[in-house]
Amino acid sequence: MISVVIPVHDEERSVAVLYGELQAALGPLAAPWEAVFVDDGSSDGTFGELRRLHATHDNVRAVRLRRNFGKAAALSAGFAECSGDVIVTIDGDLQDDPAEIARLLDKLDEGFDLVSGWKEKRQDPLSRRLPSRVFNAVAGRISGLRLHDLNCGLKAYRPEVVREMPLYGELHRYIPVLAHYRGYRVAELAVNHRPRGHGRSRYGMERYLRGFLDLL
Ligand code: UDP
Ligand code: MG
Repeated sequence: MISVVIPVHDEERSVAVLYGELQAALGPLAAPWEAVFVDDGSSDGTFGELRRLHATHDNVRAVRLRRNFGKAAALSAGFAECSGDVIVTIDGDLQDDPAEIARLLDKLDEGFDLVSGWKEKRQDPLSRRLPSRVFNAVAGRISGLRLHDLNCGLKAYRPEVVREMPLYGELHRYIPVLAHYRGYRVAELAVNHRPRGHGRSRYGMERYLRGFLDLL
């Protein structure tokens, strides 16, 4: 089974659309799949939407965190709940393209433990792309794992990789690095990226400071 973990914070307008896209992308594959949504303390109608999805589709599960803990903790809660032989993560804001999941899984089958997406043509403003480039360069230099894009929401994993990964704060940015340190084989694959339609990115500039402290 393929477990897809989706952290969501105030994404009420996206979750049902995303489920439809996941079904279109994963339904035709040989393996069954499940969606594990993690509502990270949303203050809009996200959890109500998840309840509706859960009521109408038997491969939908929803975890609700008591308050907003951040993406790393949300992913961690999702990983603890999923039982697939492969685990996929995808952002809940429709910027990542579910149609790319099959390619990630093929790459995993080439003999990797983690395949990380690379938003090669990233659909975000320069004010986001530039700091991110610096971040990836610095983190790559310090960690020894040279990837273009550590922090793509779209990734595929062998389950053991996430089982022993302590994720809190901003550590979701370093998942490939944490896996690399533990000796797992990490690959990167260029994936389609789409502009944000609904909702807004929650993070401000303080993310870079927190992210840098976590790197240290
Ligand atoms: N997210 C979350 N908790 C948060 C912030 C974001 O679960 O505190 C989710 C969000 O709903 C989305 C994903 O994490 O599904 C990526 O967030 P966002 O799009 O804001 O980040 P960006 O793409 O701007 O890096
Ligand atoms: Mg986004």
